[in-house]
Amino acid sequence: MSQDDHKALWKWILLGMVLGVAFGWAASSDGVMPATLSEAIVPWVALPGDIFMALLKMIIVPLVVTSIILGLFNAGDLIFLKSMSVRLIPYFILTTAIAITIGIGLSTIIQPGANIAMNEAAEQISLNQQAAAAMENLSIPDRIMNALPTNPDRAMLERVMLQIVIFSLILGVITLQLPAAKTKGFIDLCQFGQEASMMVVNWAMAFAPLAVFSLMASVIATMGISALTGVGLYAVTVIAGLLLMGVVYALFIRILAGRPALSYFRDIREAQLIAFSTSSSSATMPISMKCATENAKLPPKIVGFTIPLGATVNMDGTALYQAAAALFLCQVYGIDLTLAETVLLLLTTIGASIGTPAMPGVGLVVLATILSGIGIPAEGLALILGVDRLLDMCRTTINVTGDLTASAVMTRLMRAGGQKQAAD
Ligand code: ASP
Repeated sequence: MSQDDHKALWKWILLGMVLGVAFGWAASSDGVMPATLSEAIVPWVALPGDIFMALLKMIIVPLVVTSIILGLFNAGDLIFLKSMSVRLIPYFILTTAIAITIGIGLSTIIQPGANIAMNEAAEQISLNQQAAAAMENLSIPDRIMNALPTNPDRAMLERVMLQIVIFSLILGVITLQLPAAKTKGFIDLCQFGQEASMMVVNWAMAFAPLAVFSLMASVIATMGISALTGVGLYAVTVIAGLLLMGVVYALFIRILAGRPALSYFRDIREAQLIAFSTSSSSATMPISMKCATENAKLPPKIVGFTIPLGATVNMDGTALYQAAAALFLCQVYGIDLTLAETVLLLLTTIGASIGTPAMPGVGLVVLATILSGIGIPAEGLALILGVDRLLDMCRTTINVTGDLTASAVMTRLMRAGGQKQAAD
Protein backbone atom coordinates (compact mmCIF):
# COMPACT_ATOMS: atom_id res chain seq x y z
CA MET A 1 0.00 0.00 0.00
CA SER A 2 1.47 3.39 -0.98
CA GLN A 3 1.88 6.30 1.42
CA ASP A 4 -1.10 8.11 -0.18
CA ASP A 5 -3.30 5.03 0.08
CA HIS A 6 -2.36 4.86 3.75
CA LYS A 7 -3.32 8.48 4.29
CA ALA A 8 -6.71 7.92 2.67
CA LEU A 9 -7.42 4.63 4.44
CA TRP A 10 -9.53 6.20 7.17
CA LYS A 11 -11.82 7.72 4.52
CA TRP A 12 -12.40 4.30 3.01
CA ILE A 13 -13.02 2.85 6.48
CA LEU A 14 -15.57 5.59 7.16
CA LEU A 15 -17.24 4.94 3.81
CA GLY A 16 -17.32 1.21 4.63
CA MET A 17 -19.02 2.06 7.91
CA VAL A 18 -21.71 4.23 6.32
CA LEU A 19 -22.41 1.72 3.54
CA GLY A 20 -22.45 -1.08 6.11
CA VAL A 21 -25.13 0.70 8.15
CA ALA A 22 -27.19 1.28 4.97
CA PHE A 23 -26.85 -2.31 3.80
CA GLY A 24 -27.53 -3.66 7.29
CA TRP A 25 -30.70 -1.58 7.50
CA ALA A 26 -31.87 -2.85 4.09
CA ALA A 27 -31.26 -6.45 5.19
CA SER A 28 -32.80 -6.02 8.67
CA SER A 29 -36.38 -6.81 9.61
CA ASP A 30 -37.36 -3.11 9.09
CA GLY A 31 -35.58 -3.00 5.73
CA VAL A 32 -36.54 -3.51 2.10
CA MET A 33 -34.92 -6.88 1.42
CA PRO A 34 -37.09 -10.03 1.44
CA ALA A 35 -36.34 -12.05 4.60
CA THR A 36 -35.29 -15.18 2.70
CA LEU A 37 -32.79 -13.23 0.59
CA SER A 38 -31.36 -11.45 3.61
CA GLU A 39 -31.03 -14.74 5.56
CA ALA A 40 -29.10 -16.20 2.62
CA ILE A 41 -26.68 -13.33 2.06
CA VAL A 42 -26.01 -11.92 5.54
CA PRO A 43 -23.64 -14.77 6.54
CA TRP A 44 -21.65 -14.08 3.34
CA VAL A 45 -21.61 -10.35 3.97
CA ALA A 46 -20.40 -11.06 7.52
CA LEU A 47 -17.50 -13.20 6.26
CA PRO A 48 -14.87 -10.50 5.52
CA GLY A 49 -15.50 -8.98 8.96
CA ASP A 50 -15.11 -12.38 10.61
CA ILE A 51 -11.86 -13.01 8.69
CA PHE A 52 -10.57 -9.56 9.73
CA MET A 53 -11.35 -10.29 13.39
CA ALA A 54 -9.79 -13.74 13.09
CA LEU A 55 -6.54 -12.27 11.71
CA LEU A 56 -6.34 -9.74 14.53
CA LYS A 57 -7.25 -12.23 17.25
CA MET A 58 -4.68 -14.66 15.85
CA ILE A 59 -1.80 -12.30 16.65
CA ILE A 60 -3.01 -10.57 19.83
CA VAL A 61 -1.22 -12.98 22.18
CA PRO A 62 2.13 -13.16 20.31
CA LEU A 63 2.08 -9.40 19.74
CA VAL A 64 1.43 -8.53 23.38
CA VAL A 65 3.95 -11.04 24.73
CA THR A 66 6.74 -10.08 22.32
CA SER A 67 6.14 -6.31 22.58
CA ILE A 68 6.31 -6.32 26.36
CA ILE A 69 9.36 -8.59 26.51
CA LEU A 70 11.24 -6.64 23.82
CA GLY A 71 10.19 -3.33 25.37
CA LEU A 72 11.76 -4.29 28.68
CA PHE A 73 14.78 -5.99 27.12
CA ASN A 74 15.58 -3.03 24.87
CA ALA A 75 15.25 -0.63 27.78
CA GLY A 76 18.32 -2.39 29.15
CA ASP A 77 17.56 -2.18 32.86
CA LEU A 78 14.78 -2.22 35.40
CA ILE A 79 14.91 1.54 35.87
CA PHE A 80 12.78 1.88 32.74
CA LEU A 81 10.14 -0.46 34.13
CA LYS A 82 10.15 1.34 37.47
CA SER A 83 9.96 4.82 36.00
CA MET A 84 7.24 3.78 33.55
CA SER A 85 5.20 2.14 36.31
CA VAL A 86 5.40 5.04 38.73
CA ARG A 87 4.08 7.35 36.04
CA LEU A 88 1.70 5.09 34.16
CA ILE A 89 -0.23 3.49 37.02
CA PRO A 90 -1.16 6.80 38.73
CA TYR A 91 -1.95 8.24 35.29
CA PHE A 92 -4.34 5.39 34.51
CA ILE A 93 -6.03 5.75 37.91
CA LEU A 94 -6.31 9.52 37.41
CA THR A 95 -7.96 9.28 33.97
CA THR A 96 -10.31 6.53 35.16
CA ALA A 97 -11.32 8.67 38.15
CA ILE A 98 -11.93 11.65 35.84
CA ALA A 99 -14.07 9.46 33.55
CA ILE A 100 -16.16 8.17 36.45
CA THR A 101 -16.57 11.67 37.87
CA ILE A 102 -17.87 12.83 34.47
CA GLY A 103 -20.27 9.83 34.38
CA ILE A 104 -21.56 10.54 37.89
CA GLY A 105 -21.67 14.32 37.35
CA LEU A 106 -23.62 14.21 34.07
CA SER A 107 -26.08 11.60 35.34
CA THR A 108 -26.72 13.71 38.44
CA ILE A 109 -27.33 16.84 36.36
CA ILE A 110 -29.34 15.26 33.52
CA GLN A 111 -31.21 12.73 35.72
CA PRO A 112 -31.92 10.31 32.82
CA GLY A 113 -33.69 7.78 35.06
CA ALA A 114 -35.92 10.20 36.92
CA ASN A 115 -38.91 9.98 34.60
CA ILE A 116 -39.00 6.26 34.02
CA ALA A 117 -42.06 4.80 35.69
CA MET A 118 -41.34 1.80 37.86
CA ASN A 119 -44.02 -0.38 36.26
CA GLU A 120 -42.60 0.29 32.79
CA ALA A 121 -39.23 -0.74 34.17
CA ALA A 122 -40.69 -3.85 35.77
CA GLU A 123 -42.32 -4.85 32.50
CA GLN A 124 -39.08 -4.63 30.54
CA ILE A 125 -37.26 -6.44 33.30
CA SER A 126 -39.56 -9.43 33.18
CA LEU A 127 -39.16 -9.53 29.40
CA ASN A 128 -35.39 -9.66 29.69
CA GLN A 129 -34.99 -11.58 32.92
CA GLN A 130 -33.43 -14.55 31.21
CA ALA A 131 -30.71 -12.46 29.64
CA ALA A 132 -29.93 -10.82 32.97
CA ALA A 133 -29.85 -14.13 34.82
CA ALA A 134 -27.09 -15.30 32.51
CA MET A 135 -24.78 -12.57 33.83
CA GLU A 136 -22.28 -13.68 36.43
CA ASN A 137 -21.35 -11.70 39.48
CA LEU A 138 -17.69 -11.81 40.57
CA SER A 139 -16.31 -10.09 43.67
CA ILE A 140 -13.36 -7.68 43.46
CA PRO A 141 -10.94 -9.91 45.52
CA ASP A 142 -11.76 -12.78 43.13
CA ARG A 143 -10.89 -10.52 40.24
CA ILE A 144 -7.53 -9.60 41.82
CA MET A 145 -6.67 -13.28 42.29
CA ASN A 146 -7.78 -13.94 38.73
CA ALA A 147 -5.11 -11.52 37.50
CA LEU A 148 -2.27 -13.80 38.60
CA PRO A 149 -1.06 -16.24 35.92
CA THR A 150 -1.06 -19.47 37.91
CA ASN A 151 -1.26 -21.37 34.64
CA PRO A 152 0.31 -19.33 31.81
CA ASP A 153 -0.58 -21.94 29.19
CA ARG A 154 -4.23 -21.70 30.04
CA ALA A 155 -4.01 -17.88 30.11
CA MET A 156 -2.74 -17.92 26.51
CA LEU A 157 -5.22 -20.56 25.42
CA GLU A 158 -8.16 -18.62 26.82
CA ARG A 159 -6.67 -15.20 26.07
CA VAL A 160 -6.85 -13.89 29.65
CA MET A 161 -5.08 -10.63 28.83
CA LEU A 162 -4.20 -9.37 32.30
CA GLN A 163 -2.54 -12.68 33.19
CA ILE A 164 -0.68 -12.64 29.87
CA VAL A 165 0.58 -9.09 30.49
CA ILE A 166 1.81 -10.03 33.98
CA PHE A 167 3.50 -13.20 32.71
CA SER A 168 5.20 -11.25 29.89
CA LEU A 169 6.44 -8.64 32.35
CA ILE A 170 8.00 -11.44 34.42
CA LEU A 171 9.69 -12.91 31.32
CA GLY A 172 10.89 -9.43 30.30
CA VAL A 173 12.45 -8.85 33.72
CA ILE A 174 14.16 -12.27 33.49
CA THR A 175 15.76 -11.37 30.13
CA LEU A 176 17.37 -8.43 31.92
CA GLN A 177 18.70 -10.59 34.75
CA LEU A 178 20.31 -13.37 32.70
CA PRO A 179 23.60 -13.02 30.73
CA ALA A 180 23.17 -12.13 27.01
CA ALA A 181 24.47 -15.54 25.86
CA LYS A 182 21.50 -17.24 27.52
CA THR A 183 18.82 -14.87 26.22
CA LYS A 184 19.96 -14.34 22.61
CA GLY A 185 17.91 -17.15 21.02
CA PHE A 186 14.80 -16.18 22.94
CA ILE A 187 15.12 -12.49 22.01
CA ASP A 188 15.60 -13.40 18.32
CA LEU A 189 12.45 -15.48 18.52
CA CYS A 190 10.56 -12.58 20.10
CA GLN A 191 11.78 -10.24 17.34
CA PHE A 192 10.53 -12.68 14.73
CA GLY A 193 7.20 -13.02 16.57
CA GLN A 194 6.71 -9.27 16.71
CA GLU A 195 7.54 -8.68 13.06
CA ALA A 196 5.40 -11.59 11.91
CA SER A 197 2.47 -10.23 13.95
CA MET A 198 2.83 -6.77 12.45
CA MET A 199 2.84 -8.30 8.99
CA VAL A 200 -0.50 -9.95 9.72
CA VAL A 201 -1.82 -6.56 10.93
CA ASN A 202 -0.77 -5.03 7.60
CA TRP A 203 -2.63 -7.72 5.70
CA ALA A 204 -5.72 -7.16 7.82
CA MET A 205 -5.55 -3.38 7.35
CA ALA A 206 -5.37 -3.79 3.58
CA PHE A 207 -9.02 -4.82 3.57
CA ALA A 208 -10.14 -2.92 6.67
CA PRO A 209 -12.77 -0.84 4.78
CA LEU A 210 -14.45 -4.00 3.47
CA ALA A 211 -14.20 -5.59 6.92
CA VAL A 212 -15.79 -2.56 8.58
CA PHE A 213 -18.61 -2.60 5.99
CA SER A 214 -19.13 -6.25 6.79
CA LEU A 215 -19.04 -5.84 10.59
CA MET A 216 -21.49 -2.92 10.56
CA ALA A 217 -23.80 -4.60 8.05
CA SER A 218 -24.06 -7.80 10.07
CA VAL A 219 -24.65 -5.98 13.39
CA ILE A 220 -27.39 -3.79 11.96
CA ALA A 221 -28.94 -6.63 9.93
CA THR A 222 -29.32 -8.75 13.05
CA MET A 223 -30.27 -6.05 15.54
CA GLY A 224 -32.17 -3.61 13.33
CA ILE A 225 -31.46 0.10 12.89
CA SER A 226 -33.12 0.71 16.27
CA ALA A 227 -29.85 -0.59 17.79
CA LEU A 228 -28.36 2.71 16.63
CA THR A 229 -31.31 5.06 16.90
CA GLY A 230 -33.27 3.79 19.89
CA VAL A 231 -31.36 6.07 22.22
CA GLY A 232 -33.07 7.40 25.27
CA LEU A 233 -31.91 10.13 27.60
CA TYR A 234 -29.71 7.54 29.30
CA ALA A 235 -27.79 6.83 26.10
CA VAL A 236 -27.53 10.55 25.35
CA THR A 237 -26.03 11.06 28.83
CA VAL A 238 -23.42 8.33 28.30
CA ILE A 239 -22.50 9.57 24.82
CA ALA A 240 -22.22 13.18 26.03
CA GLY A 241 -19.94 11.96 28.84
CA LEU A 242 -17.77 10.02 26.41
CA LEU A 243 -17.46 13.10 24.16
CA LEU A 244 -16.45 15.16 27.18
CA MET A 245 -13.81 12.55 27.97
CA GLY A 246 -12.56 13.01 24.39
CA VAL A 247 -12.13 16.73 25.17
CA VAL A 248 -10.18 15.83 28.33
CA TYR A 249 -7.84 13.68 26.18
CA ALA A 250 -7.39 16.54 23.72
CA LEU A 251 -6.33 18.76 26.62
CA PHE A 252 -3.96 16.09 27.94
CA ILE A 253 -2.39 15.67 24.51
CA ARG A 254 -1.91 19.43 24.21
CA ILE A 255 -0.80 20.17 27.76
CA LEU A 256 0.83 16.96 29.04
CA ALA A 257 2.12 15.47 25.78
CA GLY A 258 2.91 18.85 24.16
CA ARG A 259 1.42 17.88 20.78
CA PRO A 260 -1.32 19.50 18.72
CA ALA A 261 -4.39 17.46 19.67
CA LEU A 262 -6.08 17.50 16.26
CA SER A 263 -3.07 16.21 14.39
CA TYR A 264 -2.63 13.47 17.02
CA PHE A 265 -6.27 12.44 16.60
CA ARG A 266 -5.66 12.36 12.83
CA ASP A 267 -2.75 9.97 13.41
CA ILE A 268 -4.87 7.59 15.43
CA ARG A 269 -8.23 7.80 13.65
CA GLU A 270 -7.88 4.40 11.96
CA ALA A 271 -7.61 2.77 15.39
CA GLN A 272 -10.65 4.76 16.58
CA LEU A 273 -12.75 3.68 13.60
CA ILE A 274 -11.76 0.04 14.04
CA ALA A 275 -12.52 0.26 17.77
CA PHE A 276 -15.98 1.62 16.97
CA SER A 277 -16.68 -1.10 14.39
CA THR A 278 -15.34 -4.05 16.40
CA SER A 279 -16.33 -3.00 19.97
CA SER A 280 -13.17 -4.68 21.14
CA SER A 281 -10.10 -2.90 22.50
CA SER A 282 -8.11 -6.11 22.39
CA ALA A 283 -8.84 -6.73 18.69
CA THR A 284 -7.95 -3.07 18.03
CA MET A 285 -4.68 -3.28 19.98
CA PRO A 286 -2.44 -4.25 17.03
CA ILE A 287 -3.83 -1.34 14.99
CA SER A 288 -3.39 1.06 17.92
CA MET A 289 0.27 0.02 18.13
CA LYS A 290 0.69 0.52 14.41
CA CYS A 291 -0.90 4.01 14.47
CA ALA A 292 1.14 5.04 17.51
CA THR A 293 4.51 3.96 16.14
CA GLU A 294 4.08 4.55 12.40
CA ASN A 295 1.75 7.57 12.20
CA ALA A 296 2.39 9.36 15.50
CA LYS A 297 6.05 8.25 15.59
CA LEU A 298 5.99 7.38 19.29
CA PRO A 299 8.87 5.21 20.58
CA PRO A 300 8.05 1.47 20.22
CA LYS A 301 9.38 0.79 23.72
CA ILE A 302 6.79 3.05 25.30
CA VAL A 303 3.99 1.96 22.95
CA GLY A 304 4.84 -1.74 23.48
CA PHE A 305 4.33 -1.26 27.20
CA THR A 306 1.51 1.27 27.38
CA ILE A 307 -0.90 -0.09 24.76
CA PRO A 308 -1.08 -3.76 25.86
CA LEU A 309 -1.27 -2.77 29.52
CA GLY A 310 -3.72 0.04 28.79
CA ALA A 311 -5.97 -2.12 26.61
CA THR A 312 -6.14 -4.57 29.49
CA VAL A 313 -6.54 -2.39 32.57
CA ASN A 314 -7.29 1.17 31.45
CA MET A 315 -10.86 1.48 30.25
CA ASP A 316 -12.01 5.02 30.81
CA GLY A 317 -14.98 4.73 28.46
CA THR A 318 -16.17 1.57 30.19
CA ALA A 319 -15.71 3.14 33.64
CA LEU A 320 -17.67 6.26 32.64
CA TYR A 321 -20.45 4.12 31.20
CA GLN A 322 -20.57 1.82 34.23
CA ALA A 323 -20.85 4.76 36.64
CA ALA A 324 -23.53 6.46 34.51
CA ALA A 325 -25.48 3.21 34.15
CA ALA A 326 -25.32 2.56 37.90
CA LEU A 327 -26.64 6.05 38.67
CA PHE A 328 -29.33 5.75 35.98
CA LEU A 329 -30.57 2.54 37.61
CA CYS A 330 -30.42 4.16 41.07
CA GLN A 331 -32.72 6.87 39.72
CA VAL A 332 -35.09 4.31 38.16
CA TYR A 333 -35.30 2.33 41.42
CA GLY A 334 -35.57 5.51 43.49
CA ILE A 335 -32.34 4.83 45.41
CA ASP A 336 -30.61 7.98 46.74
CA LEU A 337 -26.88 7.50 47.18
CA THR A 338 -25.18 9.20 50.13
CA LEU A 339 -21.80 10.85 49.61
CA ALA A 340 -20.06 7.81 51.12
CA GLU A 341 -21.96 5.50 48.76
CA THR A 342 -21.02 7.69 45.79
CA VAL A 343 -17.34 7.43 46.78
CA LEU A 344 -17.80 3.66 47.12
CA LEU A 345 -19.32 3.65 43.63
CA LEU A 346 -16.28 5.54 42.32
CA LEU A 347 -13.82 3.08 43.91
CA THR A 348 -15.77 -0.02 42.87
CA THR A 349 -16.01 1.26 39.32
CA ILE A 350 -12.24 1.86 39.12
CA GLY A 351 -11.72 -1.76 40.24
CA ALA A 352 -14.41 -3.12 37.95
CA SER A 353 -13.15 -1.29 34.85
CA ILE A 354 -9.64 -2.67 35.52
CA GLY A 355 -11.08 -6.17 35.68
CA THR A 356 -13.29 -5.80 32.59
CA PRO A 357 -11.92 -7.90 29.71
CA ALA A 358 -11.38 -5.88 26.51
CA MET A 359 -14.08 -7.67 24.55
CA PRO A 360 -17.46 -6.72 23.10
CA GLY A 361 -20.27 -6.30 25.57
CA VAL A 362 -18.53 -7.41 28.75
CA GLY A 363 -18.66 -3.95 30.37
CA LEU A 364 -22.36 -4.63 30.89
CA VAL A 365 -21.71 -8.00 32.53
CA VAL A 366 -19.15 -6.55 34.95
CA LEU A 367 -21.64 -3.83 35.82
CA ALA A 368 -23.51 -6.51 37.80
CA THR A 369 -20.70 -6.41 40.43
CA ILE A 370 -21.08 -2.67 40.84
CA LEU A 371 -24.85 -2.89 41.07
CA SER A 372 -24.80 -5.50 43.80
CA GLY A 373 -22.38 -3.24 45.76
CA ILE A 374 -24.96 -0.44 45.88
CA GLY A 375 -28.03 -2.60 46.35
CA ILE A 376 -29.53 -2.61 42.84
CA PRO A 377 -30.91 -5.95 41.64
CA ALA A 378 -28.84 -7.24 38.72
CA GLU A 379 -32.09 -7.67 36.78
CA GLY A 380 -31.98 -3.88 36.34
CA LEU A 381 -29.41 -4.54 33.64
CA ALA A 382 -32.23 -5.75 31.45
CA LEU A 383 -33.40 -2.15 31.16
CA ILE A 384 -30.22 -1.00 29.47
CA LEU A 385 -29.53 -4.05 27.31
CA GLY A 386 -31.28 -2.56 24.28
CA VAL A 387 -28.85 0.30 23.69
CA ASP A 388 -25.80 -1.54 24.89
CA ARG A 389 -24.34 -2.36 21.48
CA LEU A 390 -24.23 1.30 20.44
CA LEU A 391 -22.81 2.38 23.79
CA ASP A 392 -20.26 -0.44 23.58
CA MET A 393 -19.02 0.90 20.25
CA CYS A 394 -18.71 4.41 21.67
CA ARG A 395 -17.05 3.41 24.96
CA THR A 396 -14.56 1.13 23.18
CA THR A 397 -13.53 4.08 20.97
CA ILE A 398 -12.84 6.10 24.13
CA ASN A 399 -11.02 3.16 25.76
CA VAL A 400 -8.69 2.95 22.77
CA THR A 401 -8.25 6.74 22.55
CA GLY A 402 -7.37 6.72 26.27
CA ASP A 403 -4.56 4.21 25.76
CA LEU A 404 -3.22 6.10 22.78
CA THR A 405 -3.35 9.36 24.75
CA ALA A 406 -1.47 7.63 27.57
CA SER A 407 1.27 6.60 25.11
CA ALA A 408 1.79 10.21 23.97
CA VAL A 409 1.74 11.53 27.54
CA MET A 410 4.15 8.83 28.76
CA THR A 411 6.61 9.62 25.95
CA ARG A 412 6.79 13.22 27.15
CA LEU A 413 6.88 12.33 30.86
CA MET A 414 9.64 9.75 30.38
CA ARG A 415 11.72 12.29 28.47
CA ALA A 416 11.06 14.95 31.08
CA GLY A 417 12.01 12.50 33.82
CA GLY A 418 15.51 11.99 32.41
CA GLN A 419 14.62 8.72 30.69
CA LYS A 420 15.47 10.22 27.29
CA GLN A 421 17.39 7.20 26.15
CA ALA A 422 14.66 4.81 27.17
CA ALA A 423 12.01 6.95 25.51
CA ASP A 424 13.83 7.14 22.18
N1 ASP B 1 -16.04 -3.56 24.59
C1 ASP B 1 -15.22 -2.86 25.53
C2 ASP B 1 -13.77 -2.93 25.08
O1 ASP B 1 -13.36 -3.87 24.45
C3 ASP B 1 -15.35 -3.37 26.93
C4 ASP B 1 -16.75 -3.07 27.42
O2 ASP B 1 -17.66 -3.84 27.16
O3 ASP B 1 -16.93 -1.99 28.03
O4 ASP B 1 -13.01 -2.04 25.34
